[in-house]
Amino acid sequence: MQTIADPNRLQKLILDEKQKNKIIGFVPTMGYLHKGHLQLLRTARSQCDILVLSIFVNPTQFGKNEDLGRYPKNIDADMELAEREKVDIVFFPSTKTMYPDNFSTYVEEKSISKLWCGAKRPGHFKGVATVVLKLFNIVQPDIAVFGEKDYQQSLIIRKMVKDFNMPIEILTCPIVRENDGLALSSRNTYLSPEERSCALLLKKALDYACDRFYKGVREADLIKSGMENILLNGNCARIDYIACVNNDTLEPKKILDSADRILLAVYIGKTRLIDNCQLP
Ligand code: AMP
Repeated sequence: MQTIADPNRLQKLILDEKQKNKIIGFVPTMGYLHKGHLQLLRTARSQCDILVLSIFVNPTQFGKNEDLGRYPKNIDADMELAEREKVDIVFFPSTKTMYPDNFSTYVEEKSISKLWCGAKRPGHFKGVATVVLKLFNIVQPDIAVFGEKDYQQSLIIRKMVKDFNMPIEILTCPIVRENDGLALSSRNTYLSPEERSCALLLKKALDYACDRFYKGVREADLIKSGMENILLNGNCARIDYIACVNNDTLEPKKILDSADRILLAVYIGKTRLIDNCQLP
């Protein structure tokens, strides 16, 4: 396994491999790897010759009062996990190389990005799309793998790839959860033991939504208000949004159909957690 920090060096190396007809698989992350990330690596590994993992905490996707400064890091543990997953190249650039002082070009998806997390975190998806476009240009992957945990993000990346005719196949993997249902996230490390148990309410609310739908309830407002009750019951969670949406457009729905999706963003203390599920 090689670790590369210089984008030009990586770009050259990949070009050489592509000339040998090697298939390049790519998993972009912000590090502090957990089993959710490992699933993406395994999916990519099974479909490529050269597997590239990027670890970069991208400042442009964080808002002013968000957790950029304290985002968790453990590069040694990440390297060990990457090695175990048979990653070929870890791309670990500095902020200065990704965003030199004169950096001035951004890319913005204008439709899906405006909804939900995009509305709550202005500029977030512009930062995401910009860094992913940069990473795609550096890594030149044939396949890139993202998690459904960030469902809105995965749709925006798919849209960018389509709009810009990028020859990249985007794969998504289902959400990996702890045994008790909590979706794995690097940010779970912020939670105190009490907050950790409160965080289980997200999955509980999503399960409730699926159950009500399964039993024949179709009105989004009814399902949302039941979810609200569950989330607010413990007096430990603050709802950022609950959204009942079309699975492809993320437009809100009043009457739900099967395969629609429920998206959730909830603050547990200062930690903002997101989760989602597709209706049966
Ligand atoms: P992050 O490092 O949090 O930016 O995430 C990097 C990639 O891992 C993104 O595509 C996420 O959607 C994905 N990911 C994060 N957590 C999970 C999870 N629990 N299950 C599946 N994929 C995940």
